[in-house]
Amino acid sequence: MMYIPTVCFVSLLVLLACGGCKVTDNWSSSAAISSKQTGHWAIVIHGGAGMLDKNMPESDKREYRESLERSLTVGESILKAGGTSLDAVEAAVRVLEDDPRFNAGKGAVLTRDGTCELDASIMDGRTLKCGAAAGVKTVKNPISFARRIMQETPHILFAGEGAERLAAQMNIERVDPAYFITAKRREQLERKMQEIEAAKKIAASAASRSTHDYYPTGTVGCVALDLAGNIAAATSTGGMTAKMPGRVGDSPIIGAGCYANNLTLGVSCTGTGEQFIRHAIAHELSSLVRYQRCSLKEAARIVLTERLDPDDGGLIAIDREGNIVMSTTTGCMPAASADWRGNRKFQMWVDQ
Ligand code: ASP
Repeated sequence: MMYIPTVCFVSLLVLLACGGCKVTDNWSSSAAISSKQTGHWAIVIHGGAGMLDKNMPESDKREYRESLERSLTVGESILKAGGTSLDAVEAAVRVLEDDPRFNAGKGAVLTRDGTCELDASIMDGRTLKCGAAAGVKTVKNPISFARRIMQETPHILFAGEGAERLAAQMNIERVDPAYFITAKRREQLERKMQEIEAAKKIAASAASRSTHDYYPTGTVGCVALDLAGNIAAATSTGGMTAKMPGRVGDSPIIGAGCYANNLTLGVSCTGTGEQFIRHAIAHELSSLVRYQRCSLKEAARIVLTERLDPDDGGLIAIDREGNIVMSTTTGCMPAASADWRGNRKFQMWVDQ
């Protein structure tokens, strides 16, 4: 006799708890996993959530836009020609890794030792195969290395010394570590180290220091849906300015800074990596769509404002219908998107 009212009450609670998203247990996985020609393609890229000055010179704004345009166009032309989402995300991210404006590949931010340690990951939403590299110091395009790891090894994540050795064995293009370092990043490191020293003097202990004060900006990422209905995601970064050597952020952690699943969506994150790892943000976004039947937009709102703290960062994502989000709580995240309907968007600053 008590059974029916109890079930109703629990269902109501779950509905309320998920902020209006519908709950279902009727999600057909096999249909979603298999490829189907949809005629729909979509792509979105980001150049990192952070704090770019709104009063930056117009020429700088134009250059940002041109950089994003170059990356978007490369990925878009692959998709329009019937190429795979994996090829599109890898190619688009490579363009941004080679562009010193962004914190990935050339132009990556520096550790407090003045070195670059690069992280990247890639995921195939059709097979759930993924690959990642953490803390690499000589790999010119970490995203391509991540893809080779995915395709050519039985493992997912390689780090440090073993990763360098594997890159050499695979004949991955490698460069002198000095290649990645730019004057702008040296200046940022000096400024950051002065701030850390000043904070120490006023007795701000390492434990009480905010995790937001590491200039998180410039990580890159791309998500794409191809004509076969397959989703892929990729993220690449130098991490956070003045990070401790050996620190690994969310970008190479599948389910934190990157995730793709044909059943739900693909996502690439940017921001304070520790927070994205702690809350498994990329997978959480997928779970909200999969289990709570949230719309992509609502799921993004929930992870950014109810899981993360204000200013933690942002994300880009595409769901299996081709809906796109590019959202951040930092106020700024250079990003661009395009899709089969002819929509083309660019953004730098976002109203919160
Ligand atoms: N998420 C990156 C990291 O923590 C940094 C960023 O996106 O700006 O390594």
